[in-house]
Amino acid sequence: MFKLSDFDFHGKTALVRGDLDVPLRKCQMSNVKCPMWEVEDDTRIEACLPTIEYLLGQRAKVILMGHLGEPRGRIVEELKLTPVAEKLGELLSLTIPRQQPKVRSRIQNIPVYFLGDNLWLLENLKFYPGEEGNDLEFSKRLASLGNFYVNESFAVSHRRYASLVQLPRLLPHCAGFNFVEEVKNLSRVLEDPKRPVVFIIGGAKTETKLPVIGDLLGKADVFLLGGGVANTFMVAEPRHPKTIGKSLFDQAQLENVRKILAREKGQKVEFSGVKSIYKIKIPTNLVIAKKEDGDFSGTEVVDIGGKSGEVFDQEKMIVDIGPKTRELYGKVINQAGTVVFVGPMGLIEKKRFSQGTKAVFEAMANSTAFKVVGGGDSIAALNSFGLFSKMDFVSLGGGAMLEFLAKGTLPGIEALRRENG
Ligand code: ADP
Ligand code: MG
Repeated sequence: MFKLSDFDFHGKTALVRGDLDVPLRKCQMSNVKCPMWEVEDDTRIEACLPTIEYLLGQRAKVILMGHLGEPRGRIVEELKLTPVAEKLGELLSLTIPRQQPKVRSRIQNIPVYFLGDNLWLLENLKFYPGEEGNDLEFSKRLASLGNFYVNESFAVSHRRYASLVQLPRLLPHCAGFNFVEEVKNLSRVLEDPKRPVVFIIGGAKTETKLPVIGDLLGKADVFLLGGGVANTFMVAEPRHPKTIGKSLFDQAQLENVRKILAREKGQKVEFSGVKSIYKIKIPTNLVIAKKEDGDFSGTEVVDIGGKSGEVFDQEKMIVDIGPKTRELYGKVINQAGTVVFVGPMGLIEKKRFSQGTKAVFEAMANSTAFKVVGGGDSIAALNSFGLFSKMDFVSLGGGAMLEFLAKGTLPGIEALRRENG
């Protein structure tokens, strides 16, 4: 891959594809008539600062690009990049009014936020169908704005979007500093990792997580599952499928998961101090609760392995891993050489259901393994527990990290590897 240091940016314009898809929250001052959003977790924005600052230091002009949320090719008011522009201004200590930074102009018919004479931010790329459609004409519009293309968006590089795979065809291209760090650190998990290698996979975005588990079977010694990922395995189990009430699971991938289970063939792994466990460990001690009017009631801990499975109240849903599973996961993590975490174990948005995730992070923090965490929501949780600095590497990619670990490359990486013309 080409690096920033391979080019002379002096007096040129660099198009930087950043990873700006950050969690937002309503400002405290906001009201229904005038909702204002602010960035809740700026980890991803911070990660592109070194590249931006380097380019500005090289006397280049920077046009930053990125997307926020899933507007699906339409303009969605609350997904405008205003809060991101504000946060960028704050972090770069440039002068941006604390209220809405005004969009003052359009280039190639795309609104632009002016963050400084040499730093512009283009409006949410996913407002344009060409981005997700990987459209060449859209890419040409973007390419016409600059002389160089820099990918600083590892977390999105598993997607074949225009700004990730087409732009490098049209402009001299390279990877940003954080992108290079991602590849370097994640390669440590791929190349001769310290064993045992433990993958902890949870969360709700099952469509990016479940398909790669099959590819990871040969690389991991054990999988500790949680969240919607674990639920899907519970339902898919061919011999003892579980009925899990209103729990989240991925119907579309049951067949796929059955194939993974068939390949894994009930393989067991030994860890001292615990009974041998299946290579793909599905939690059996769980917290369940009934969802009502946006809140939860009737929280209880159940064992769904074995006979007690029948007591699962079908009006309830799984909201976290239970204390026994936390303890088991902790013991496995304690003996691991490498731990990769992606996707929370439970509904982290509710503090009382974030305890399973917290326990797993704490076990990781206390372990001597090489510890990697990825995924937007996972990182936000890690931050909220104050354990960010205890990890060896925090990857901005959730799906992208897993796909890189499974396949050893990503579409965005391949695009950067192509000859610079
Ligand atoms: P990441 O961003 O870390 O990759 P995901 O986006 O896949 O993770 O998933 C995060 C979401 O998963 C959180 O909003 C959390 O509430 C949800 N989640 C975790 N466990 C469950 C569960 N058992 N049921 C429903 N949602 C869950
Ligand atoms: Mg997420």
